[in-house]
Amino acid sequence: MDQATIDALRQKPVAAQKLFIGGAFADSQDGETLPVISPIDGTTLTSIADAGAADVDRAVAAARAAFEKGSWSRAAPAARKKVLLKLADLIEKHALELAVLGVRDNGTEIGMAYKAEPLSAAGTFRYYAEAIDKVYGEIAPTAIEVLGLIHREPLGVVAAIVPWNFPMMIGAWKVAPALAAGNSVVLKPAEVASLTLLRLGELAAEAGLPEGVLNVLTGRGNVTGEALGLHMDVDAIAFTGSGGVGRRLLDYSARSNLKRVHLELGGKSPNVVFADAPDLDLAAKVSAYGIFRNAGQVCVAGSRLLVQSSIHDAFVEKLVAATTRMKVGDPLDIKSDIGAVSSMEQLKKDLGHVATALDEGAQLVSGGRRIREETGGYYMEPTIFGDVAPGMTVAREEVFGPVLAVQRFEDEAEAVRLANGTVYGLASAVWTSNLSRAHRMVRAIRAGVVHVNTYGGADMTVPLGGFGQSGFGRDKSLHAFDKYSDLKTAWISLS
Ligand code: NAD
Repeated sequence: MDQATIDALRQKPVAAQKLFIGGAFADSQDGETLPVISPIDGTTLTSIADAGAADVDRAVAAARAAFEKGSWSRAAPAARKKVLLKLADLIEKHALELAVLGVRDNGTEIGMAYKAEPLSAAGTFRYYAEAIDKVYGEIAPTAIEVLGLIHREPLGVVAAIVPWNFPMMIGAWKVAPALAAGNSVVLKPAEVASLTLLRLGELAAEAGLPEGVLNVLTGRGNVTGEALGLHMDVDAIAFTGSGGVGRRLLDYSARSNLKRVHLELGGKSPNVVFADAPDLDLAAKVSAYGIFRNAGQVCVAGSRLLVQSSIHDAFVEKLVAATTRMKVGDPLDIKSDIGAVSSMEQLKKDLGHVATALDEGAQLVSGGRRIREETGGYYMEPTIFGDVAPGMTVAREEVFGPVLAVQRFEDEAEAVRLANGTVYGLASAVWTSNLSRAHRMVRAIRAGVVHVNTYGGADMTVPLGGFGQSGFGRDKSLHAFDKYSDLKTAWISLS
């Protein structure tokens, strides 16, 4: 990754985008489009098609036809593996082009986007491709006169609805295991980050994925997304996004065909620093990165920092120093640590949370304002609130922006109480050099992941997902196959 190549790629015009249905690009039936605004400078980058219910019908029909035809769903595992490995290679081959395109679309700093988007997506496709011919069915421990076989079968048509913060990474977490299991997929990116996933559809076709097996529909959530949620021929929805939309998807399922709904939702993840943390400077630096990278638009962001009283003031000082060293800037400058907030709408939400925190009496330690307004882009200072009380909105509600709430605790019991004191349970961390305490905390914190002496970085080998209102179902690891396959019993009499 070098600056000169990035600068050349950022100049490339982006053509008006169409829908990807049945292996080809097509306009939406009524010709409607949505503008794509770059958060880097607020300019219009291009347009995407705005898929309506008729387009959803077309895409679902293409996916169903491909599934029934069987050239993917019934293909030999080794054949499916070959195609997905080729797709991983193609993503990697075009990694920088994809990363720059994605950054122009959603504003993530390029250093993070390059690794977390194309490179991680390629890794995800490779992981599930390799797993295809290594996951076995089961033979039940029955009596001798029968044979009980447990088959794993694909579900049929899976709709994957994903958010804008890491479209390729999260898209791949759903599309790769769904395809590996033999399903057809209709992928619906978020309105403000569709470009890289349209390119993914194209690369999948180039890799040899049969037409109709992966379709990409851009459009509005309450139109395209709703039509997918209510569709009678979609067998499952794999969703990552907000709790509000998650609830709607459950309702759509109840009102239509009882399709399975897998929800990966938001969080308000606690990052707990004990006085006996092995390295407070490292903890401060990693904690700052754990909330502020990608302008805080990370589902697992450590947005609540719980610090033991005896080190509170010294630690907050270190945290502020580490935050000050993070450079907010042009996300396509490789020296920027924090890029742009993805959209004007999100920036307004973030600033609204700052205003509410101030109203409720939280102490503003640093940041809090929009910056670089002269660029036309959407940038915000990393913001730290101190002495936050558990009842304050900033301690309870997900901001999904660069806003950190610091709370203090006296002892382990209080740390656990505060850590578990929200409706969420996505991620968390504990910093301590006491091994027994680390294990006690891992057991006590209700969250899908508890990091110890680090924050983030969990790879494909481990599942990710939430407790409580952070959702259910798990992305990543072999456990993800459970979401995209059904178990069927063959009960065979041998007498
Ligand atoms: P969102 O819920 O607004 O949108 C997510 C997707 O749902 C988009 O594609 C959107 O178009 C679609 N959508 C919106 N309304 C819909 C409707 N009525 N019917 C069907 N689909 C609809 O979320 P967002 O703002 O894109 O993303 C931010 C949220 O995602 C945060 O809450 C964040 O924590 C969460 N998130 C969770 C994880 C995780 O792994 N748990 C990962 C990343 C983001």
